[in-house]
Amino acid sequence: MSQPVVTRFAPSPTGFLHIGGARTALFNWAYARKTGGKMLLRIEDTDRERSTQPAVAAILDGLSWLGLDWDGEPISQFSRADRHAEVARQLLDQGKAYNCYCSSEELTRMREEARAEGRPPRYDGRWRDRPASDAPAGVSPVVRIKAPREGDIVVHDHVQGEVVFKAENLDDFIILRSDGTPTYMHAVVVDDHDMGVTHIIRGDDHLTNAARQIVIYQAMGWTVPEMTHIPLIHGPDGAKLSKRHGAMGVESYRQMGYLPEALRNYLARLGWAHGDDEIFSTEQMVEWFSLEALNKGASRFDFVKLGNLNGNYIRAAEPARLYDVMVDTASEVGRNSDYLGLVNSRDTVLAALPDLQPRAKTVLELIDLAQFIYDQRPLAMDEKAAALLTPETREHLAALRTIFGAMEDWSVEALDGAARSYAAENDLKLGKIAQPLRAALTGRTVSPGVFEVMVLIGREEAMARLDDQVALARQ
Ligand code: GLU
Repeated sequence: MSQPVVTRFAPSPTGFLHIGGARTALFNWAYARKTGGKMLLRIEDTDRERSTQPAVAAILDGLSWLGLDWDGEPISQFSRADRHAEVARQLLDQGKAYNCYCSSEELTRMREEARAEGRPPRYDGRWRDRPASDAPAGVSPVVRIKAPREGDIVVHDHVQGEVVFKAENLDDFIILRSDGTPTYMHAVVVDDHDMGVTHIIRGDDHLTNAARQIVIYQAMGWTVPEMTHIPLIHGPDGAKLSKRHGAMGVESYRQMGYLPEALRNYLARLGWAHGDDEIFSTEQMVEWFSLEALNKGASRFDFVKLGNLNGNYIRAAEPARLYDVMVDTASEVGRNSDYLGLVNSRDTVLAALPDLQPRAKTVLELIDLAQFIYDQRPLAMDEKAAALLTPETREHLAALRTIFGAMEDWSVEALDGAARSYAAENDLKLGKIAQPLRAALTGRTVSPGVFEVMVLIGREEAMARLDDQVALARQ
């Protein structure tokens, strides 16, 4: 039986969980779930200057929001520094690594000379075979690995295929600094080995690191995990993803009103495909997922596609859940009056949601659409709505107000019928009166059906809103 799959997501906590990292996490997660394996989480916090606790919290929070759970406790790379040093010492003892006493001036000179002679600026291995007795007094050495001098180092990659690196292009890189701390390259290998990682899935910006990491695996006699380096995400114009294109933390997507299931679906499609399927559930994705179906080319981030997908998920969502998301979003982005309005009109918002859902692509749009429910009188009119309220249309509103005021049956059908009769009697198209009515009742030109609006906000509020506009006509 083959070994159970262990993947890992290994973010550096120097910022939020950005969209590329979220996608890497999703692929690791999907592969682990698909194979019945595990996905571990390792926080790569060895860079003490740049790693922060709020960034760790934001990463965990972002993963949880996206519904990507990991197995076991998150592992701190920094906390494993002793183990990294221990492995470096083993390599020293076995003659697979060596102490290097070069000063930084010497290294600079070495690089400059190489450049002057047109050679790549690599460490020349001058301490590789020097006896310990040559060590200068009072200098703490770095530990360098003995990288192979000839032959090839081949990365067998599920996406990139066989990627061949010439050994002569890799120098004896540092695994332990002179202060005894590990380099990133070394820490990753020791951790992946100790954590039992069988599959590394990460961005292809780590492909050359993979070659160096293989040098350490081979020196230790450890099995190299299966490698999968996924192409990066580009902007719609093909350029490197910038903030304008969507290179933001996942919390920004939450604040912009995207649902986690929509983002999951979208990220899955950014770099992976199952035939022509565009909309699929996470369960389907897990069922269909394979490393072989990952794309070889860079993918392009497209807000329009994400918006359309999100619109689909908003339509499909349960109103009760959507309501909670609206409240949380309004609170998170500091839309205080919306927050209060939503909290105070839960039942009405819930009743209106099935009408609002097909009209919104984001939760923020949904909140905008719900505002008419709790807006305070007299309603502020947007520009287009204000233009519909002329002295003439206000006269029609006054007449309709009287008709509506006398109605006993306050239902969509009855209100609709009454308005239609009035329009017919006055030789008007229904739209001629429905549009100003909508403007007066909602302050805008987009809303659910105007008679639905009247039923939703109720007789008293509807009459009061009409009164406000009729009174303006009389001023
Ligand atoms: N910490 C690295 C990053 O955030 C990932 C390293 C790895 O996956 O090996 O890019």
